[in-house]
Amino acid sequence: QVEVRTKDEIGELATSFNQMSHDLADASRQRKQMTADIAHDLRTPLTVLRGYTEGLKKGSLPGSEKLFTIMHEEVILLQHLVEDLRTLSLADAGELTLNKRAIDPKALLERTGLAYIMQAEEKGLQLRVEAPANLPAIFVDGERMTQVLNNLVSNALRYTNSGEILLSGTAVSDEIELRITDSGVGIAADELPHIFNRFYRADQSRHRTVDSTSGLGLAIAKAIVEAHEGKITAVSTPGEGTTFIITLPRYVRNNES
Ligand code: ATP
Ligand code: MG
Repeated sequence: QVEVRTKDEIGELATSFNQMSHDLADASRQRKQMTADIAHDLRTPLTVLRGYTEGLKKGSLPGSEKLFTIMHEEVILLQHLVEDLRTLSLADAGELTLNKRAIDPKALLERTGLAYIMQAEEKGLQLRVEAPANLPAIFVDGERMTQVLNNLVSNALRYTNSGEILLSGTAVSDEIELRITDSGVGIAADELPHIFNRFYRADQSRHRTVDSTSGLGLAIAKAIVEAHEGKITAVSTPGEGTTFIITLPRYVRNNES
């Protein structure tokens, strides 16, 4: 940091120099944090697998279906984590390949809704899709966008204990808004600015549960939506619920080049 003494061009230069050095320090801190988080998340499943394989090798641990199931789950978790990291690094490098097509947003929401209807019923939750039939198309990679919606809906299911999850689509001027609304626990105001950060898990979910979260889901959702020139935001009231809003440009015929 340099001292800013004047208001002229030299002063401006000093100010932007300070901004730049501040940003660099920030990026470096984030990179270190991310490496620490990756190491931490890799360590737990590896420790479990190492313990079990050693026990099996020595014969001190008898093989059983239950044991192999746990081992298999840990491998899936590792694979999930590595896949997520790969998606993020591709997005960082601007190399996320998108197979964009004109897609009906309502069909996209309905497909996601169908995929989760059983899970919702098991939890005693309502899951509804609400979108007008004539919603203009969006120009997106259907698989990637489904990945985004899947993450939002599975989050909604995880953090909602009663009430409803609503997937809705509306046209707002030149854009299409997709909303995932839940009546769940909500997100505290001081946590909300961080939820799209890599590896961020709000307090109540910091400890890895059975369905093993990585804390990368929303970071990936954001990367994918932004690769589509869209935006994703969240609003939440603790104790009442959360809404995630994805805004995407609508499809215009001549952008299909
Ligand atoms: P992953 O999706 O990688 O398996 P995750 O679900 O914990 O893990 P994100 O999807 O990135 O990670 O979500 C980050 C955090 O934001 C969650 O841990 C949770 O604390 C909070 N969160 C996300 N969605 C909701 C929601 N609908 N209601 C309440 N909290 C939420
Ligand atoms: Mg998630």
